[in-house]
Amino acid sequence: MKVTEVRVYGKTLPKVGDYSMSSARVGDPDSTIVEVVTDTDHVGWGEVCMTGPMAQVSHAASVRADLTLAAPRLVGLDPRQIGVVWQAMSAAIYGGVAAKSALDIACWDLLGKATDLRVCDLLGGPLSNPVPTYHVIGIGTPEEAAVEAIRLQDAGHTKLQLKAGGRRVEADIAAAHAVADVVRPGTDWSVDTNMGWTTDQAIRFSNACRGLAFAMEQPCATYADLEAIKPSISHPLLLDESATDLATISRAIGSGLANGFGMKLTRIGGISAMRAVRDLCLATRVPTSFDDSWGGDIISAACNHVGSTMDPRYSRGAWTSAGYQQGHYDDVNGVRIIDGMVPIPAGGPGLGIVIPEGCFGEPLAVYAS
Ligand SMILES: [Mg+2]
Repeated sequence: MKVTEVRVYGKTLPKVGDYSMSSARVGDPDSTIVEVVTDTDHVGWGEVCMTGPMAQVSHAASVRADLTLAAPRLVGLDPRQIGVVWQAMSAAIYGGVAAKSALDIACWDLLGKATDLRVCDLLGGPLSNPVPTYHVIGIGTPEEAAVEAIRLQDAGHTKLQLKAGGRRVEADIAAAHAVADVVRPGTDWSVDTNMGWTTDQAIRFSNACRGLAFAMEQPCATYADLEAIKPSISHPLLLDESATDLATISRAIGSGLANGFGMKLTRIGGISAMRAVRDLCLATRVPTSFDDSWGGDIISAACNHVGSTMDPRYSRGAWTSAGYQQGHYDDVNGVRIIDGMVPIPAGGPGLGIVIPEGCFGEPLAVYAS
């Protein structure tokens, strides 16, 4: 099997309802989709979608610029040899991890299709199906946060994430107490500021919420900030934006800084890198989630497949933005949240997502030999 062509598409994902973080209110995210075409009947699909230019290092335009360097390197290679593909991409561009991740995901999709196995089977087999997911409560008043927490639990969710930051910390403290009042036994929750507090604010928040059983996710901007607050907070600390690569993740576990992770596939290198994070977290009994910033059925399926293979005792769930947006690429097998859980897509081998002809319109770019 040889890659003959890589096509790049853009797709706007219209959002439903409000989704606010400390840095920005999410608009209609602009997803980038890659189609890896081979000299067989098989094509592989990958996707990367940022919420916008403020929440992550990459954005749609930078991903597409990085693809101009990384994507041509796949042409002529056997996509089943994912290590060889990584070597070729890494010889073309030092950074560009998000773009490389989309191509990595497409190669895993192809490997599955070529071997008639689902991606979760290639990764060791599912340990849970359906896979738990968590749902976000956006930044709002204490009353709004409590109403949303009740609604989500009524809908079957047992994992919640309250967004915070970008305003007076007293407002976040009040919202956390309001949610704590309505959280039911068996519901896990965290408070995520997406880097939104100063170290002083994070410590004040933790002290004011002492005894409330949540974890604090990425309360401050940098790794050094998190090290600075760790001795002064009483809540478990989860790293998200600061967990940039395997070396950093390993260091955060070894030093005791991280009690868990909110991990994004396309921040660290796609399914290949997330497999390594899964194994590291399993070996050290540190919980992680299997997320991405945003996106449609392809990236959601990738998160779901890897997440399904984690020991459920150490899984914080596999996130999907399906609950916050309109429509699917695959109306039958697309990633859906049912009672707070996400079944593994059942559309066949690979990612299990069937992309209809013409789903994304004309490609933005085509790389061929
Ligand atoms: Mg997060």
